[in-house]
Formats: sequence, C-alpha cells, structure tokens
Amino acid sequence: MSLPFNIAIDGYSSCGKSTIAKSIADRYSMRYIDTGAMYRAITLYCMRNKIIVKKIVDRDCLLKSLNDISINFEFNILTKKAETVLNSENVENLIRGIEVSDNVSIIAQIREVREKLITLQQEIGRLKNVVMDGRDIGTKVFPNAKIKLFITALPEIRARRRYDELISQGDHVSFNEIL
Ligand code: C5P
Repeated sequence: MSLPFNIAIDGYSSCGKSTIAKSIADRYSMRYIDTGAMYRAITLYCMRNKIIVKKIVDRDCLLKSLNDISINFEFNILTKKAETVLNSENVENLIRGIEVSDNVSIIAQIREVREKLITLQQEIGRLKNVVMDGRDIGTKVFPNAKIKLFITALPEIRARRRYDELISQGDHVSFNEIL
C-alpha cells in the first residue's frame, strides 16, 4: 500500500487557507481537515465547563479534562462539508462565533492541547490522503508532506474575510474591531 499523500497549508488566519485547502481536496478527492476547528472545539468545551473564564485558564482542570474531549468530523451530505463534532455533538456553527474566536488563541497556546491535537492530526494523515490547513501544519504535523504551502494576505483583506464570516452568522461586530 502506498503512503498517504498529504498536503500541508500553513499561514495566518483569515487568509483563505481553508478555501484553498477545500478546493484542492475537492479537485483531487482528498479529505480536507480544518485544524482550526479542532482548536475551536476544545475552546468551546473550555468555555462551557468554565475552564476559561474572562480569558483566564484553569490549567489544572484543563489538563484533567483533556482525555474527556473527543473531536471528530462528520460529513454532511447536504452541504457536502465535513462538520466538527465535539463529544458526539455537532458544534460546527457554535465554534465559529466571536466568543470562541476571542478565546481560541489562548487555548491554542497550551502545550498539552497542541500535543493532543497534533497527535490526532498525524493519526488522520497516516490513514488518508489529507489536505490540512492551520498554523504549524507544515513544520510540526507533516514536516514531510509531499506539498507544503504558506498563505498570507493584507490585513484589510484578512479582516474583511473574517468580518463577512461573522456577519453571515449574525454576530454584531464592526470591521474596525476585527481589523
Ligand atoms: O483557522 P482558524 O482561524 O479557525 O483557527 C482558529 C485558531 O486556532 C487560530 O487563530 C490559532 O490560534 C489556532 N490554530 C492553531 N494551530 C492550527 C490551527 C489553528 O494554533 N494548526
């Protein structure tokens, strides 16, 4: 059996990484894995369980809870998209809100969280041909990926992308706040 063919897409947030990753996955019948969604799902768990309150993390509680957090993706045949599942609950929409966005970078800095998700991402990539996007995918998750891309864009374009995404979900934000 030949080794899976993995494509790693790194870059800053709201640059269109996932748009590019999804279209590559579509075009070449590969699995698209949104690693940002995984960090968002853990953040949602932490918010719900008061592990992060006012941007302060109860680190001990988080470390004790990590084994209770399971993250998967399920394919929605209507939208033809993989949606994020946290402990058997589809949280695809919930993880896109501004509150999760505001807290995710704090949770994503925690070493044990990164280790858990990097291991999970590597396991997925061992089994399937995947396109993965997110910070550090090309360096830590798949340093030997067949193809690695790094995407960037102007701050105004990044802010516009995020603004449009949040507004389309009904969040009340201003463009300048996002910028
Ligand atoms: O891509 P997205 O904006 O959904 O990612 C949410 C956050 O998750 C990022 O801002 C970053 O803090 C974190 N992240 C990360 N490493 C990844 C993917 C996302 O630290 N591979």
